[in-house]
Amino acid sequence: MNYHQILSEIYNEVTPLFSKGKVTRYIPALASVPPDKFGMAVCTLEGEMFTIGDAQESFSIQSISKVYSLTLVFKMIGENLWDRVGKEPSGNPFNSLVQLEYERGIPRNPLINAGSLVLADILLSKTRDPKKDLLVFVRKTSGNPAVDYDNAVIASEKITGHRNFALAHFMQSFNNIHNPVDDVLDVYFHHCGIAMSCVELARSFLFLANHGVIPDTDEYIISKSEAKRINALLLTCGLYDESGDFAFRVGLPGKSGVGGGIVAVLPEKLGVAVWGPSLDPSGNSLAGTKALELFTTKTGMSVF
Ligand code: GLN
Repeated sequence: MNYHQILSEIYNEVTPLFSKGKVTRYIPALASVPPDKFGMAVCTLEGEMFTIGDAQESFSIQSISKVYSLTLVFKMIGENLWDRVGKEPSGNPFNSLVQLEYERGIPRNPLINAGSLVLADILLSKTRDPKKDLLVFVRKTSGNPAVDYDNAVIASEKITGHRNFALAHFMQSFNNIHNPVDDVLDVYFHHCGIAMSCVELARSFLFLANHGVIPDTDEYIISKSEAKRINALLLTCGLYDESGDFAFRVGLPGKSGVGGGIVAVLPEKLGVAVWGPSLDPSGNSLAGTKALELFTTKTGMSVF
């Protein structure tokens, strides 16, 4: 497979999309990110890395962090997680409140904001320092001990995160948030505020492509069955109310964030990350989604 050639074709084909869509504005620190940034990195299980564009540049991973917190919580409490969070696609925006009222404070899945707030709450109850633990996990899986929080983004989101505070208070009224809301939000915003590059993201997802084991070091993270379940959630819920469209066009389990990143895995083969800050109305990267669609089309590789 000539990944170099394929990545450069993709870059050319997605360029017209840089000027479409909108960069996130509701988190003020993200509003000034140039819309014509674009990076893509493919990392194989054998450790080969192929990149194009701004693949080495760090950006705000935002909701991609939900995959890491889900992994930590699932590893820790297993099936008990499903007493507090569902595993169905939401069909609603990532920060929606309406479904929560009908479903009595139980979020549809762990990959929307409400679900991830419950993950943060569980980590707070079960561990001493959930902010540090997630960072340690991401540094290990990405192979880069320098990965860190972007404190400006975290502070910025704290000021404007009214919906997230509302979601957490609402779930607390249903007894599905057990810790003080401010503490839960502090953990959640920190997790969203990690800065990583496409290269680091692609490598950090390899354990999900490799049945739960980091291929480089052979370190066990989760069981084969747990990796299967997390990948299934990524496929059905990883792109919010656009998960169906993403599965249809791309055909890989993936997770997006409003920083413009998307990471996807092809089990037993590779991890792939893209970054394009201009988003569609659902909050998913326009160029990123197109790039992944072109990637699976040109390589002929997907889970289907
Ligand atoms: N930190 C963002 C929020 O809570 C994450 C949302 C996202 O990436 N979709 O609103």
